Amino acid sequence: MALSTEQNKKLELALKTRYQQLINEVRQELGQEGEQHFADFAAAGGSDQGDESVADALADIAAARVDRQVNEMRAIESARKQIRAGEYGICGDCEEDIRFERLLAYPTAVRCVSCQQKHEKTHASENTPSI
Ligand SMILES: [Zn+2]
Repeated sequence: MALSTEQNKKLELALKTRYQQLINEVRQELGQEGEQHFADFAAAGGSDQGDESVADALADIAAARVDRQVNEMRAIESARKQIRAGEYGICGDCEEDIRFERLLAYPTAVRCVSCQQKHEKTHASENTPSI
């Protein structure tokens, strides 16, 4: 892994901030109904050691309405697990290091730029976010 501790911290913060944004979006989307559920597991999602998946819990509540958010939250949860495991920032396809600049712009990136482009060509119909 080519990332420095400093870079890792920056990316972890970016992931955390984005995660919080998504939680707020979902909370607004679900309104009262959401508030009740959030009371139960908000703490788990905010902690660093909890492996409880807020995304999973949300998927049970109102999947269709918050699908996009839930998917991105899953991506963030898995990125944060990778950070803890020291496996973050490695391309899932070619296993090269993903450039820090790319991760900063897109912290849930699971592929390097060239593999992502290949992937998008092969899966042109999928809505894969890219930079
Ligand atoms: Zn790659």
